[in-house]
Amino acid sequence: MRLDKVLADRGLGTRSEIKKILRQGQVTLHGQVVLKADLQINTADLPYICYRGEKIDFYAKTVFLLNKPAGVLSMPEAEGVPCALDYLPPAYRSRKFSCVGRLDKYSEGLLLITNDGELIHRLTQPKWKIRKLYYVDFEPEMSSTAAQLVQTEFAQGINLGDFVTLAAEFHRLNSTSAEITVQEGKFHQVRRMLSACGYTVKRLLRLQEGPLALQDMAVGAVRQLDEAEIASLY
Ligand code: URA
Repeated sequence: MRLDKVLADRGLGTRSEIKKILRQGQVTLHGQVVLKADLQINTADLPYICYRGEKIDFYAKTVFLLNKPAGVLSMPEAEGVPCALDYLPPAYRSRKFSCVGRLDKYSEGLLLITNDGELIHRLTQPKWKIRKLYYVDFEPEMSSTAAQLVQTEFAQGINLGDFVTLAAEFHRLNSTSAEITVQEGKFHQVRRMLSACGYTVKRLLRLQEGPLALQDMAVGAVRQLDEAEIASLY
C-alpha cells in the first residue's frame, strides 16, 4: 500500500495535503523521516508511523459505510469469495473490523463496518429499535387491496415461528415493489416477513439504518463516517 493513500484514508488530509505534510518532514516511519509519498508499506508498519511525533492510531473507533453489492458476503466465510471487508481501504482490512449485523449475500445497500464492539452491540440489540428502511422487488404482483392486508399484518407483527416481529411498516410503491421499515435485524427477516404474506423477494436493498442513509453512493463505494455521524448512532 502507498503511504500517502494510507494517510489519506486515515483522514490526515487529501493526497496533495499529505504530500505537503511529508515534504515538511512531519511523518516518520520506524523513527526515520519519510519524504516519499509513494513509499510502499504494509500493515506491520502501521504501528510505527508517527505524525508530528505522535503515533497514529489506525484502530481508533472507526466506522465505514459500504454500499454492498449483491453477491458479496458480509463477513469472510470462504477463500476467494468476495466479502464486505475487501472493500475497506487496505490499512483497515483486518480482523478487528466486523459488520454491524449482516446483509444476506444477495442483499444490497447500506452496511456499517466497524472496530467498535459497543456500537455493534447497540445497533443490533432489538431493544434499541434501530429503524432500517429497505427497498424490495417481489413477486407475484400485489394489488393495492392486497397491500392493505400486508400493511396491517406488518403493523401487527408477524409470527415467524422463532419470534414475532416488532411493528413494521409496508408501503407499496407499485405492484411489484415496496418500501419496508423494520425495527430489528433478525436472520432473513424481511424475506421471511414477505414470504409469510405469500410473496418472494427478488431484490432487497437497505436504504437507511437509524440516522444514516445510502443516498447516492455508487455500488461498492465505501466512506468513513465522521465524528458527528458516529455520535448520532449512540
Ligand atoms: N432482511 C433480509 O431478509 N435480508 C437482509 O439481508 C436484510 C434484511
